Amino acid sequence: MLLPGSMLGVLGGGQLGLMFALAARRMGYQTTVVDPDPRAPAFGIADRKFVGSYRDPEILSELSSTCHAVTTEFENVPATSLAFLEKSLTVRPSSRSVETCQDRILEKTFLREQGFETAPFLVIRDGKIPSSDSMRPLLPGILKASREGYDGKGQWVVSSPEELSRLVGERNTPFVLEKKLDLKAEFSVVLARGHDGQTAIYPVAENIHESGILHISAVPAGISTDLGEKIRAVAENIAKKLEYTGVLSVEFFLADDGRLYVNELAPRPHNSGHYTLDGCIASQFDQHVRALTGLPLASTLLLSPCAMGNLLGDLWRENSPPPLQVILSHPSAKLYLYGKANPRPGRKMGHFTVLGNTVQEATHIARSMLATLSGAVSEQ
Ligand code: ADP
Ligand code: MG
Repeated sequence: MLLPGSMLGVLGGGQLGLMFALAARRMGYQTTVVDPDPRAPAFGIADRKFVGSYRDPEILSELSSTCHAVTTEFENVPATSLAFLEKSLTVRPSSRSVETCQDRILEKTFLREQGFETAPFLVIRDGKIPSSDSMRPLLPGILKASREGYDGKGQWVVSSPEELSRLVGERNTPFVLEKKLDLKAEFSVVLARGHDGQTAIYPVAENIHESGILHISAVPAGISTDLGEKIRAVAENIAKKLEYTGVLSVEFFLADDGRLYVNELAPRPHNSGHYTLDGCIASQFDQHVRALTGLPLASTLLLSPCAMGNLLGDLWRENSPPPLQVILSHPSAKLYLYGKANPRPGRKMGHFTVLGNTVQEATHIARSMLATLSGAVSEQ
């Protein structure tokens, strides 16, 4: 067990790295953050910083010799770097888990082989277009680049074989072609798993996306106890099958026909789990510190229904934020800004949480705050 005072390394200094480092600091740990971007949010509070590549051998050996354990902020760090660190350090989640989750082909193949239901899909490699017969049942579909996609990036809706050939021909990368499902709702679950297999699992969140980006998460999801238990059991089983250690997030689709599918895995805390900072005894970042250091996991008890809204760069004009008093003047809302210098459309600049007597009330307030903010921007 690594006790407070130990040095924890984090590959990635975005908002997830920042919130991890804040939780670690509060619990008495030190952090070393690595990020290629000198303005990465987590550098503001890291005890040690390395600006550079996640593959830089000097940075990696420095982490090996000065950190007691290392984790990653996101799935797109090179698994080879984690494998290198694993030779001399505790690395959680493991390079193998990250490798599986960072590549849609490996991820979806793993899920299918383990018997978890995913949207029907085909693998496309080396520019080889699948036969019309195998493709047709998946159209209209979503073509997804196998690696590096997030927030709907690297995805294209395809309606015809011709469109698919064109898109695949234009990009020299592996893909999955997935059937586009008619969705009734989207859910996610965040869990933490210790190295001894102890698991702490949060309530199910219901997620509303806009243009492939998370807009609002509401907790607890308004679903039957049975469906909630099923979703949580699937997530827990996936973590077990992956022999996972750390915080794992699992996204789900509920189709119009009532069938439940696993969408994707994130080997880290999740945007839809930010509500745990305000709505739970222990946040997803606290649990990640605990799983990394080998501390016992803490309670995931939800203290209040809540909703979380994302603040995207679309709401900024040049470098000016939207009228944030809309959030700040509400007694049950809490604002988080990540300190990012360059607002861009689709870029996550911050989020807010609203607590309510019911999840409907919290969601209604979050929705109207976001509507007011975007209305204020479009009026300018
Ligand atoms: P990302 O890594 O960008 O989050 P996802 O695969 O989760 O990628 O896709 C982003 C969003 O796009 C999903 O949350 C969902 O709203 C929509 N989407 C993705 N795949 C499908 C699908 N097969 N059918 C219907 N909607 C989908
Ligand atoms: Mg997703």
